[in-house]
Amino acid sequence: MRIGIDLDNTVLDATSAHLHYYNKASGRSLTHADVNDFYLYRLYGWNKAERDAIYNQYGHDIHWNSAPLPMAVEILQQLFNRHHLSIITARPDHFRDVTIEWLKHHKINYHHITLVENKLQECINSKVDVLIDDGPHYAEEFALANKPVILYEQPYNLSVANDLVFRASNWVEVKKHIDYLESRLKL
Ligand SMILES: [Mg+2]
Repeated sequence: MRIGIDLDNTVLDATSAHLHYYNKASGRSLTHADVNDFYLYRLYGWNKAERDAIYNQYGHDIHWNSAPLPMAVEILQQLFNRHHLSIITARPDHFRDVTIEWLKHHKINYHHITLVENKLQECINSKVDVLIDDGPHYAEEFALANKPVILYEQPYNLSVANDLVFRASNWVEVKKHIDYLESRLKL
């Protein structure tokens, strides 16, 4: 299969790193318990321009200091041996180098990487069979286009429900969904 894989809050814990640096920038002390929005900057009351300024300043450190989620590295290695893996992240292009270095540092193998916001178009263009992502808007958009998504469970995506949305709360569950989808594709 061709598998699309998001990074932030799917392969790695982006929330902890964002909270650390956004707290530093704002002088506030938000915690995981406060996170109920995919767009974390909105919890700080920032507009898009304010967020962009902070993100440009701290983005490199945020991305470098994010830890892989439990079992993500091990299961991605298993998937790499059997499937075509495309990392598809909406990070801006100026964070490409730190992203690639981080993947190398954590020994994550993949076949292709794209930094793009329109993930649906990218998945159609590159014939991706399933996307693994935490973004509620992506899950809804893909379901509408009749494409399956494995939704990595996060506090802000709990309300998304659709037959083509396969919910996973850890990487062992992600792998089970992949195995199921692979068996279904072969029918
Ligand atoms: Mg994400």
